[in-house]
Amino acid sequence: VALFHELTDALRCLPGVGEKTALRLALHLLERNRSGGTRLGEVLLTALDKIGHCQHCRNFTEHDQCDICANPRRDTSLICLVETPAELLAIERAGVYSGRYFVLMGHLSPIDGIGPDALGLPILARQFEQGEVREIIVATNPTIEGEATAEFVREMARPYNISMSRIAHGVPLGGELGYLDQGTISHAFVDRRAY
Ligand SMILES: [Zn+2]
Repeated sequence: VALFHELTDALRCLPGVGEKTALRLALHLLERNRSGGTRLGEVLLTALDKIGHCQHCRNFTEHDQCDICANPRRDTSLICLVETPAELLAIERAGVYSGRYFVLMGHLSPIDGIGPDALGLPILARQFEQGEVREIIVATNPTIEGEATAEFVREMARPYNISMSRIAHGVPLGGELGYLDQGTISHAFVDRRAY
């Protein structure tokens, strides 16, 4: 019973999993899908051990560079600024963008102690200095924090010859790009506006 309790307790580290769901998941793994559970356990351990951040864009990868940054066909002068890998994946699925990304893994939030360093912005600043970046397409969430973060990056880019645009989207304030459909995303890219 003790180990069973430990399992349900551990499952509750997942978002949206409360006591009831944890119990249901534990019963499912033990009763119905032990092989699935074994695979989950193994992959989870390996993923947590091996997956880190891309040195260029901070996307998740088990290598020094992610597949996108390592792809010689991607335009290195173009950077799309996103808050999380969810947005990156949504944009990639839409298949309308051939530049690179910078994944902030959040947004500026002084109250939570999240400043420019926590978002990896010194890495982006170095890319500005090296002169490889010509355009930034802002695709941060249209929230106050997302806008403030974009504004900060705009100030960083100011001394350089970098143009900045924001993707258009007809979603309400607070809507998250990661959940938009392909058509909306491709429209948002084509219809981007100068910042
Ligand atoms: Zn990368």
